[in-house]
Amino acid sequence: TSPEQGARAEIVVDLAAIRHNVRRLRELTRAADRSGPKMMTVVKADGYGHGMHEVARAAREAGADWIGVATIDEAVALRDGHDRGRVLCWLGVPGEDYASAIERDIDVTASSLDQLREIARAAEQQGTTARVQLKIDTGLSRSGCTSVDWPALTTAARDAEQAGHVRVTGIWSHLACADEPEHPANDRQEQVFRDALAVVEETGLTPEVRHLANSAASVLRPSVHFDMVRCGIASYGLDPAPGVTEDLGLVPAMTLQARLSLVKRLAAGESVSYGHRWTAEQETTLGLVPAGYGEGLPRAASNRAEVWFNGKRRPIRGTLCMDQFVIDLGDDHATPGEVVELFGTGHDGAVTAQDWAEVVGTINYEIVTQIGGRLSRRHV
Ligand code: PLP
Repeated sequence: TSPEQGARAEIVVDLAAIRHNVRRLRELTRAADRSGPKMMTVVKADGYGHGMHEVARAAREAGADWIGVATIDEAVALRDGHDRGRVLCWLGVPGEDYASAIERDIDVTASSLDQLREIARAAEQQGTTARVQLKIDTGLSRSGCTSVDWPALTTAARDAEQAGHVRVTGIWSHLACADEPEHPANDRQEQVFRDALAVVEETGLTPEVRHLANSAASVLRPSVHFDMVRCGIASYGLDPAPGVTEDLGLVPAMTLQARLSLVKRLAAGESVSYGHRWTAEQETTLGLVPAGYGEGLPRAASNRAEVWFNGKRRPIRGTLCMDQFVIDLGDDHATPGEVVELFGTGHDGAVTAQDWAEVVGTINYEIVTQIGGRLSRRHV
């Protein structure tokens, strides 16, 4: 799987790893309850940088019941790419194109009365019924209807259902601190969600799916599995709660690799890259890697991150630039054209996206989602 000859650098996405992870998450969420919740694979933001269509297809092959995306545009693109299964999207702005979603049998989310009305109106104009999931804000304080407004939203949804404009297919919310299992917000949000479900029952709504868990809660908090779990990051093989979870048996799907464009000796006392932020204490060999922040690598990795070359970790020296950066090969032999793995599965102690995230002070999500720019992406 080396980059094609002549290619500077490329993203390789292992779809077998995606399938493995989806199946593994199914196993992990089944452990507590033999029937287990339904599985939604979240593919927003171009599948966290892995390719939305390819990931959705792999996830369906591995048995994902639902696909989740943020925007209607993403959901419409999935349908246009021939995904025929259940799809939920969760964002909407005033004037949103709900009609496109409704005519494609996409489940949309109502976080407020206004959104519910817009969705019902779009369905009425089409002479059809929209599939709507109601979202309650249980404490993330982002989208979702507050507990105060919840009885009004559920009542209005029931009325719209009786009028034939909507069918309420789901009730859901999102956790703020799922990757910190001891955080008291988890208990509070679970309780608010349970109270909201009681209101739904009193109202007479009969949703198909009630769901609260992201990847971290899927593996750490079985009490919030309800009818479905929504797994994003773990489907890509990355740890949803680093430092908390044991080895989950997931496989990182994205490998970023490049070919050394230049190899040269540097004399002791010479400095490297913009700002001369690294100076060689002794003579060494430098390798030039043709990828930079133009490909979505974080510039904060300057002098910090490592890459994997010829069975060893090698440090980045000096400032990571727009198109390239420099690594230190010591006295090892290297030839231009040889392959450097910037991050990947972590085989044999190799570098992972999680390693990059830690050295630059961010989360693994941001590393993989940002990768792109001029890179080609190959699915294997
Ligand atoms: N559900 C919602 C509403 C989300 O916005 C996301 C992503 O942030 C997810 C589920 C998946 O989260 P994770 O990638 O942590 O599994």
